[in-house]
Amino acid sequence: MTHYQAIVVGGGLTGSAAAIALAKSGLRTLHLAPKGAPDRRTSALMMPSVDYLERAGLLENADSLGHPLTQIRIIDATNRLIRAPETLFDSQEIGLDAFGWNFSNARLLEQFHAVAATLPNLEIRDLGVTQFEQSSSGPQLTLTDGTPLTAPLIVGADGKKSLIREMAGFRARENGFTQAALVCDLELGRPIGGASIEFHYPQGPFTFVPAGGNRANLVWIDDRAVLKDAQAGGSETLLPIFRDKSQRLFGSIALATPAHVFPLSTLSVDRAGADGVVLVGESAHAFPPIGAQGLNLGLRDVADLAAALAAADRSTPDWAVTVSTDYAARRSADLGRTGGMVDTLFRSLLAEMIPVQALRSGGLWALKLAPFLRRQAFAIGMGSR
Ligand SMILES: Cc1cc2nc3c(=O)[nH]c(=O)nc-3n(C[C@H](O)[C@H](O)[C@H](O)COP(=O)(O)OP(=O)(O)OC[C@H]3O[C@@H](n4cnc5c(N)ncnc54)[C@H](O)[C@@H]3O)c2cc1C
Repeated sequence: MTHYQAIVVGGGLTGSAAAIALAKSGLRTLHLAPKGAPDRRTSALMMPSVDYLERAGLLENADSLGHPLTQIRIIDATNRLIRAPETLFDSQEIGLDAFGWNFSNARLLEQFHAVAATLPNLEIRDLGVTQFEQSSSGPQLTLTDGTPLTAPLIVGADGKKSLIREMAGFRARENGFTQAALVCDLELGRPIGGASIEFHYPQGPFTFVPAGGNRANLVWIDDRAVLKDAQAGGSETLLPIFRDKSQRLFGSIALATPAHVFPLSTLSVDRAGADGVVLVGESAHAFPPIGAQGLNLGLRDVADLAAALAAADRSTPDWAVTVSTDYAARRSADLGRTGGMVDTLFRSLLAEMIPVQALRSGGLWALKLAPFLRRQAFAIGMGSR
């Protein structure tokens, strides 16, 4: 296969989902997916994303790969003057068995690879891209082995530092935070069932996400220097911190995997597609892992890319340009709304200003008490459209 109709750059979860979606829509697709270190993160995917994975043939049965999230418990662990009430959200309130499912990124990727292997019009190469340019015959790529390639439609799924985004001239804004996220798996003395438990500290949340039985995935957001020091101290340093921060609610705590630290930033683009190039996943948007939105948003990118393709007349010479313009229009509102929501939430969690603390605690009281507001919050958090 040499004349590709689409090339997807980047072998993370969004790139793999996008390559499968393009191939399933009938395009001769090349997926450039250089092998990297295994992705140690886990992703809480809300029900609309899980439904999408099932509809798109990317997942047969959530039960076989993930763990259901049935409750979200928020505990204000700050010593602030105005503290928020402890708040429990239950998926039964909105008539669902679960808000979503928690998956290991590495296992989800294995599942995507198994689906990709069944598609004869999808070729996967363990090569990256070093160069992108627009020429009179369309977008051109140069691969890490020097091979030049062209295709009408290019999908940049090459992450936060996207070369495709930079070289294709998309305008992006990125703001780094002094906070980072430490993640690892823990074996707790007591099971947490289906509850995700968030302890909100002044420097950021400390969250246990259910991973089956007594296992939990920890996402701890704090100053990067604090996390790096704790990580360097190994389990002797980490475990006492974990016991304190979880208010000793779960008995013993043991490390089940090594701890990894991820830098945090927000990134947004003016538009997510133009001139036959589209950006999906973190090449188009990134934010701190608050409210579990990143991959959920990335999968909505892929769903809209598939919809833009289905709507296009592929017999016209500039079909790929039409797809990229249509895709940008479809993504605009969701990217703006979700990015703004996560950014506001993150800054309000860290804010030392008393009016902001009052607003946040007032907001949680309102959510605790008012059924209408709770339903609105669920709809926003789950990315319902
Ligand atoms: C601590 C943490 C917890 C999170 N938890 C959640 C959660 O609970 N729920 C949720 O929805 N989201 C969550 N997220 C966000 C989610 O993990 C990301 O949104 C998602 O994994 C991004 O996938 P991606 O494919 O866009 O990018 P990446 O996973 O970064 O993949 C990009 C790929 O592009 C490749 N690449 C880069 N440059 C090139 C090149 N020049 N040529 C070819 N390939 C290239 C890289 O090798 C990489 O494989 C979390 C994030 C963090 C940091």
